[in-house]
Amino acid sequence: MAQPGAYIADPTEGITRVEDLPKPRVLKRSRNYRRRACPNCGRSGYRLRTWARVLHDLGDPATGRPRDLHVTYSQHRCPHCNTYFNADMDDLALPRCHYTHRVVSTAVRLVVEDGLPYRVASWHLWRDHRVFVPFATIQNWVEAGGEKSAAAGRRRVPGRRPAPLQRVHRRR
Ligand SMILES: [Zn+2]
Repeated sequence: MAQPGAYIADPTEGITRVEDLPKPRVLKRSRNYRRRACPNCGRSGYRLRTWARVLHDLGDPATGRPRDLHVTYSQHRCPHCNTYFNADMDDLALPRCHYTHRVVSTAVRLVVEDGLPYRVASWHLWRDHRVFVPFATIQNWVEAGGEKSAAAGRRRVPGRRPAPLQRVHRRR
């Protein structure tokens, strides 16, 4: 353990019971407001109730523990146009997604830039970033992003590792 490059196995390797995995560190975030501007008409909407949402973030590399954000947020009603809406938290995560933007972009990069197969990317996220993402979820993210980049006129990158040279010298 004294010299650089010494192999140190992942301490969670071989753990079969989920209770034995390191407990997540919980960070509280608030998107809870009395009034918010209505996204439909721009007038003020009052708070109807408060909800909570858990977002899995990239883990803490210092302690090796996963990291969860517990987000408290307000739901509002606009009395002027009868619109129901939630306090904005697009800076943290996409609607209905259980993971922060940082997790999604790291996962997509592992597949698109590094060419890792989905299962390997899933394992990498756990081992080095302490966030568990099922490989099918990563596949959904990559395919959703692929549609976007195809729409932007870019080539879709396959899930398997392309040889770097082959990529450079590919004829168009
Ligand atoms: Zn409104």
